[in-house]
Amino acid sequence: MFTLRNTAKLGLNLWSKRSIASLSALSETHQMLQKTCRDFADNELIPVAAKIDREHLYPAEQVEKMGELGLMAVAIDEKYGGTGLDYLAYSIAMEEISRGCASAGVIMSVNNSLYLGPVDRYGNEEQKQKYVVGYTDGKKVGCFALSEPGNGSDAGAASTVATLKGDRWVLNGTKCWITNAYEAESAVVFATTDKSLKHKGISAFIVPRGTPGFTLGKKEDKLGIRGSSTAQLIFEDCEIPKENLLGEPGFGFKIAMQTLDAGRIGIASQALGIAQASLECAVDYANKRIAFGKPISKLQAIQQKIADMSLNLESARLLTWRAAWLKDNKKPYTKEAAMAKLAASEAATFCAHQCIQVLGGMGYVSDMPAERHYRDARITEIYEGTSEIQRLVIAGQIIKELSA
Ligand SMILES: Cc1cc2nc3c(=O)[nH]c(=O)nc-3n(C[C@H](O)[C@H](O)[C@H](O)COP(=O)(O)OP(=O)(O)OC[C@H]3O[C@@H](n4cnc5c(N)ncnc54)[C@H](O)[C@@H]3O)c2cc1C
Repeated sequence: MFTLRNTAKLGLNLWSKRSIASLSALSETHQMLQKTCRDFADNELIPVAAKIDREHLYPAEQVEKMGELGLMAVAIDEKYGGTGLDYLAYSIAMEEISRGCASAGVIMSVNNSLYLGPVDRYGNEEQKQKYVVGYTDGKKVGCFALSEPGNGSDAGAASTVATLKGDRWVLNGTKCWITNAYEAESAVVFATTDKSLKHKGISAFIVPRGTPGFTLGKKEDKLGIRGSSTAQLIFEDCEIPKENLLGEPGFGFKIAMQTLDAGRIGIASQALGIAQASLECAVDYANKRIAFGKPISKLQAIQQKIADMSLNLESARLLTWRAAWLKDNKKPYTKEAAMAKLAASEAATFCAHQCIQVLGGMGYVSDMPAERHYRDARITEIYEGTSEIQRLVIAGQIIKELSA
């Protein structure tokens, strides 16, 4: 079977640590990755995406196949079972998978960037052996628990607490909206270890599923991305070993913010996939639908929509690839990741909206994928920082740059 991993073994692994010559042309190896993921989406995701959405099904079989392809740990070192590719590769793969099924996309994104990302970056060797190895092949996934009922955008105001008692941390509090909650074998959880220090008193912990005192709330009934589970994580005198602290005490907020910078490239890519699927759906339908004696794709009003959709999509894709390229080249990318997420999520909503319009009545019913794309697109403007928060991040960085 062709997988990204055995491609690497065949000596074709040119993608890791290789920067692209130009943002308008992907390297041969990135193109191969794109094609592999596109074929996978066409053959394995698109045929089942409507059922996954309708029945709120976690796509376990598809996620395992994605794991076999190396897509559940794209930028993680091969030494820990990852695929060892770069972030541009991750972005490309995320877009193609999300084009096929946005639920599969968010499951992949949370495991890659929100769970494995911080454990790989801040974990010690023992933590990586325990909580990275085994989470790379799609059989086990992780989750990331920052948001709380009382604070989402204001993540620094966490009220979950962790108290050190002897050689154990005791966690108390509730996290909400946690993606992969029902399937995750481990969670990266943020809790306050010193309230007086406000956000500088937040620390990060790894909490395995099944730890006494760690339970799940009800599964949320969502507008879109219905194949992924979202639920509360509840901690009541939940004791974990002292060594499950991730990074230094008080370093949690920084870990969360750095993780979200990278995660936003993943969500931007998910949004690109939804936008691309909407564009393809609109063009396909416009070529087939006859009105006033000709395909509606010949009508200029429809062509204007196609042009605007592709303009939004392409410009967001360039921003997303630029953010990934900056990360791969170890340059600052906070502002660019926020721009990418903002532009791509708004492009997804715009394209899905226009797609419904091009399809007319058929856009409004579940016989066609347009209404699902519309519902799936909406979340990309909310999670990993709302559009309002992205604008704050961008403005903050621009003002700093121009006032220096
Ligand atoms: C399906 C789903 C999956 C999620 N997955 C995860 C996950 O895996 N892990 C996790 O930790 N969280 C997750 N979240 C939580 C998500 O990140 C938050 O919902 C999001 O950050 C917004 O927080 P909030 O819902 O508390 O909204 P609020 O922070 O209450 O915001 C409400 C409104 O006020 C605006 N607002 C708030 N502050 C400002 C400001 N300073 N300036 C301007 N406008 C502002 C917001 O933009 C928004 O429009 C998920 C959410 C959903 C719905």
